[in-house]
Amino acid sequence: MTDPDHEAARIARARLPEGLRPETLAVRTALAPSQHGENSEALFLTSAYVQPDAETSARRFAQMEDFTYSRTSNPTVRSLEARLAAMEGAEAAVATATGMGAILLLIMGLLKAGDHVVCSRSVFGSTVSLFAKEFGKFGVETSFVSQTDLSEWRAALRPTTRLLFAETPTNPLTEVCDIRALAELAHGAGALLTVDNTFCSPALQRPLALGADVVMHAGTKYLDGQGRVMAGALCASDALVREVFGPVLRTAGMTLSPFNAWVVLKGLETLGLRMKAQSDNTLAVARWLERHPAVQRVHYPALASHPQHALAMAQQSGLGGAVLSFDVRADTPEAARAAAFRVIDSTRVLSIATNLGDTKSIITHPATTSHGRLTEAQRQAAGIGQGLIRLAVGLEHVDDLTDDLQRGLGPCDCRP
Ligand SMILES: *Cc1c(COP(=O)(O)O)cnc(C)c1O
Repeated sequence: MTDPDHEAARIARARLPEGLRPETLAVRTALAPSQHGENSEALFLTSAYVQPDAETSARRFAQMEDFTYSRTSNPTVRSLEARLAAMEGAEAAVATATGMGAILLLIMGLLKAGDHVVCSRSVFGSTVSLFAKEFGKFGVETSFVSQTDLSEWRAALRPTTRLLFAETPTNPLTEVCDIRALAELAHGAGALLTVDNTFCSPALQRPLALGADVVMHAGTKYLDGQGRVMAGALCASDALVREVFGPVLRTAGMTLSPFNAWVVLKGLETLGLRMKAQSDNTLAVARWLERHPAVQRVHYPALASHPQHALAMAQQSGLGGAVLSFDVRADTPEAARAAAFRVIDSTRVLSIATNLGDTKSIITHPATTSHGRLTEAQRQAAGIGQGLIRLAVGLEHVDDLTDDLQRGLGPCDCRP
């Protein structure tokens, strides 16, 4: 008879060598396989875990170690957390049910009534609402400042400022902020910097290496990458994850389901390839749009015309990511809206939807969807005109995408 422990050790290959590169970590980092030696990580759909005896059970509950109940932890979720942490260069990560759930966990963990946050005005719309309305109700006050003007961030600091929250590039105008400069500002003020890294993912941008303290993700987007599940995460130091976020997750319950964790875990294996291919596609579409006579302006960090082009290229591994936006030419807001709707409605390949990070390209009219709840004055201030169209570019052939845009924009031989 084989010794079961020996058998398990022989199959497991549990420990990876040190110093593996990001591409390798993205496919290899996970908990050790089960006794069956499955090569693809298993999906553990279980809410509870059988304990060997009462003593062990008591210890596991007290120390939050191993597995007791899936609101606290689950092996599939742990594998995702380990893999994402490795890719972000973080000591640890905690997964959540959605991206917004990750921000909720961040604030519940770090802040209390009376604390102050400085946040870019251009972050994801629900993030603005969550800070301004929901956290405001509990006495956490937020000042909203310019995405790109560091002096506004500095001027907003107060003795009670505990957190700076940034997102780069932003949606839909792809404005880029300087992560390193914001980290210095935060630390000088005794605050932490959190960066929403959803748009770049760790394949392009690793905020912790630039000085950020916490990386937040909407795993719903590129980490899944195929538009299937909702997910979120925070990546940070072991101390923050274990002592601050872990206990809140365990009691508040914004836990990621094992099935969604498994989908995202497999998504991470192709993240690098997808981000590269989708960034290349997006740059090709952006260059094509820049030459189209019906287009007034294209917003995309990898274009030399982008105001923070140099910073973006340095911060994002030389790639622009897979979201761009552009303004159609028109004389009045009414005409701009009609022109934008015509472009959107003429497409036959692109999906009309409000999501991004999918292999299927998506076309959106921000002024009437993601930014539809703002007043016209707020939209004007944010630069979200009625003629603005956002494209989240996927993996289709780039010529099929530009052909699709020509249906509404008009024909153009604008291949560079
Ligand atoms: C989608 C998104 C979120 C919110 O994530 P959900 O999973 O939808 O809750 C937060 N930030 C950015 C940049 C996003 O694109």
